[in-house]
Amino acid sequence: MVDCIFCKIINKEVPSYKVYEDASFYAFLDIFPVNHGHVLVIPKTHYPDILHTPSEVAEGLMRLVQKIAPAVLKATKSEGFNLGMNTGSVAGQAVFHTHAHIMPRFPDDGLRLWGHKPYEPGQMETVSSAIAHEIL
Ligand code: 5GP
Ligand code: ZN
Repeated sequence: MVDCIFCKIINKEVPSYKVYEDASFYAFLDIFPVNHGHVLVIPKTHYPDILHTPSEVAEGLMRLVQKIAPAVLKATKSEGFNLGMNTGSVAGQAVFHTHAHIMPRFPDDGLRLWGHKPYEPGQMETVSSAIAHEIL
């Protein structure tokens, strides 16, 4: 049994501000929000990340994002959001229980998207071929 903060939240061993719950999923406020209204959507079954989540569960998670994100936008009077799934500690994943971040955005909220690393001539061909070759 893994010691997982999100499993504890689902089991009500740790309190949370729930915004949605059904038989398979749970959604609640992130305790360190990027902006107010930042919501985490999680499956009730523990999987460590999106790549180790069965496709049907991942599909259900995305369906729920489509249902909850408009509510976040309305409630926070936001006109857009970033959808995030940090995968792997190098990418900033801190909790290894699959979760989607819905992060409402506001004009001049001070947040920035990631930077850019331009390609040298010819590199796009190499990189695209390498990725295409690995797709199963
Ligand atoms: P990650 O970096 O793994 O993609 O995101 C994990 C998120 O979970 C973070 O944004 C963090 O603020 C949130 N988080 C971690 N522990 C708790 C907690 O105990 N309660 C709530 N509501 N959010 C948490
Ligand atoms: Zn868990």
